[in-house]
Amino acid sequence: MPDDIITLINDADKNSPVFSISRSSPWKLLVVDDDPEVHSVTKFVLHEQKILGRNMNLLYAESANEAKRILSEHRDVAVALIDVVMETDRAGLDLVKHIRNDMNMEECRLVLRTGQPGYAPELAVIQDYDVNDYRTKSELTHTRLITTVSTALRSYQQLHALAEHRRGLELIISAASDFLEQHAIADLAEGVLTQLAVLLKLPPGGIVVTHRGSPVSDDSERTYIVGASGAHARYIAHPLETLPDFRIVNAIQECISVKKHVFTEDYTVLYLQTSQKLDAAIFLNSGDKIPELDKKLLDVFVTNIAACFKNVKLVEKLNHIAFHDRLTGLLNRQGFITDLDATVCGTADTATVLIDLEHFTDLNDGLGHEAGDALLQAVAERLRKNLNPVCRIARIGADIFGAAGPPSLINEKKIHSIFKEPFKVGEYQLPVSVSIGICSHSDKAVNGITLLRRANIALNLSKQMPVKHHQYYQPAMEDEIRKRVSIIRELRAAFQSGGLQVWYQPQIKIATGEVTGMEALLRWPEGSGFAHPPSVFIPLAEYSGLIFNIGEWALHQSCTQYLNLAEAGFSNLRIAVNVSMPQFQHEGFTDTVAECVKNYSIPPGCLELEITESIAMDEPDSVKERLNTLRNLGIQIAIDDFGTGYSSLSQLQSMPIDYLKIDRAFILEIQKGKTGIFAETILDFCRKLGVLSIAEGVETPEQAEYLKSLGCDMIQGFLYARPMPPEDLMKWLKKHKSA
Ligand code: C2E
Ligand code: MG
Ligand code: MG
Repeated sequence: MPDDIITLINDADKNSPVFSISRSSPWKLLVVDDDPEVHSVTKFVLHEQKILGRNMNLLYAESANEAKRILSEHRDVAVALIDVVMETDRAGLDLVKHIRNDMNMEECRLVLRTGQPGYAPELAVIQDYDVNDYRTKSELTHTRLITTVSTALRSYQQLHALAEHRRGLELIISAASDFLEQHAIADLAEGVLTQLAVLLKLPPGGIVVTHRGSPVSDDSERTYIVGASGAHARYIAHPLETLPDFRIVNAIQECISVKKHVFTEDYTVLYLQTSQKLDAAIFLNSGDKIPELDKKLLDVFVTNIAACFKNVKLVEKLNHIAFHDRLTGLLNRQGFITDLDATVCGTADTATVLIDLEHFTDLNDGLGHEAGDALLQAVAERLRKNLNPVCRIARIGADIFGAAGPPSLINEKKIHSIFKEPFKVGEYQLPVSVSIGICSHSDKAVNGITLLRRANIALNLSKQMPVKHHQYYQPAMEDEIRKRVSIIRELRAAFQSGGLQVWYQPQIKIATGEVTGMEALLRWPEGSGFAHPPSVFIPLAEYSGLIFNIGEWALHQSCTQYLNLAEAGFSNLRIAVNVSMPQFQHEGFTDTVAECVKNYSIPPGCLELEITESIAMDEPDSVKERLNTLRNLGIQIAIDDFGTGYSSLSQLQSMPIDYLKIDRAFILEIQKGKTGIFAETILDFCRKLGVLSIAEGVETPEQAEYLKSLGCDMIQGFLYARPMPPEDLMKWLKKHKSA
């Protein structure tokens, strides 16, 4: 390709290209000499002269400094005739250096002239500064001057054409590589438009780019306008025939039918074959017939662009795969976000909904993956049929669908109505219930990801609403999440820097008043108080997974505490450690406990684990097995907060447990003149089950008295002692013993 261009350039004056300077403008010639006589002679010789078909535009400077000023305003001077000796002996030579080095004018041809032969410049100057010619003034006779200037101009013309073509090629190459980055036909077409307008200096409205296949719909057969400048721009994405300028429509149709570039006196249509089934055409209102050289350059351009169109089509195909869900054909998560960015954001009042199919995993496991897939397809179909076509529909995750559109079309009523009827999957009629999270917004600044995140926050909360099954996003929800995240961050830092403590609250045998054990309770001291109580930070530790490390640490602390107490003479005190659901469910949990008991040599019956009712009722068989393993290690088990959960009493009966802890809520009911019916029932139950009872949160002597009368075994509460740090507990125990 470059060879082609070079041969053409050698012929430059025959086929002066559109890329080069205008063919009719006069040559600019600068005469620099401090002798006015030289100016008038030069003017006399060259003034009316036509060289290489063009007139002369003579500029005059009487000093090197004046020449610099003129050149800075006329950077297109083709030839400068420069006197060597002017203000100084070297003024002309300095000017030459200035032109080449400071002004970077490489194309301008330089002819040096001196009064006397003795002032000839060194050869080095001539070579280094690309001086065209060197003459003594006496040598420049009439004819000599014309030939010298003609030679210099021809040389300038060739150099200039070469530079212009290099610039043209650079533009084409850089355009093509830029275009390779374009991922949409519309962007590519716009790039082509801009590039051609610059290359060919065409008037507004001069270019129309068409392509087989619509840039916005599925129609892949008709020819569409994909790029257009000026008034035609409004027809972008419309079929070619809609363009009111029949001349352009006909010209493009002809070009596509003959599959060749069409060059006429007043317009040009370039044909781009991008593949067998794909073609594009570019109409140029090019005016004058385009010179041969430019045709070749345009051909280079078009070949590059055709490759780019092909690339774009490929990318579009890949995009389709990247942005759509294979199973349902709906947008996928990324596609939905991109779509929200492009369409919903910026439009006032839209609703984005996320729909979670409840118990989908059970169904998938129970009926098989094929049935699962069929259900997902059926749901997609139902959404497509029932939602207005202006709504966007997507499958965001395995069993989560998304939709977006005006709130009148996307709301909980509409969505619930869509899922009212069961879905037919093979021979089954499957009822599907859904949780719905909706984010309605009129805030134009939000983007797709934000909308999705907000709808997801609402969805997660809606799952906790067994009746309503839907939730609208509120900004406060996000504040809440932010707060939680920042507490988690602080908790992690506090734990790592040893900022957590374990305090202990004594448990007392109600019949004798003796201390039998204590409950280990986590504390997070911050400053002078406790900004975050365990009821706040324990659930966050569970949520973030920090509970595994914190829980194990609390277990070790409790064992150390047991040894310290034993050493101080308080042996056989039971220490009860709370265990969270994720901790208990963790595979290595029983091993960790076994190791602890062994390493600290805790006697059987002195370590108790408190688990909640919900743990006990979760997969009762495996829980029972674990509890038995722990029991065999000599560990005692207590069910904490009893009465607040939904225990199945029959299941509880078969669990290996030692204590039931009656929740504080039931103790609170025991007040002056009132009895606690629930506490009474639970105590009955304990007796029947053959387990010991511990009442939590006992604050008043009435409560203690009443519990004693009902035969409660043990008591824990502020009435006797609050949870205390180890040193205080030690003091308290000593005091209690001597009391
Ligand atoms: P819990 O296991 O039911 O602990 C008893 C709670 O009742 C403790 O709250 C204790 O300070 C409080 N309490 C005891 N006597 C009285 C009283 O007379 N009146 C009142 N109003 N409250 C009393 P705390 O320490 O705030 O702990 C709250 C919950 O945090 C615990 O409830 C337990 O579920 C959890 N927790 C505490 N430490 C740990 C731990 O190390 N691991 C795990 N997994 N959970 C822990
Ligand atoms: Mg407890
Ligand atoms: Mg409790």
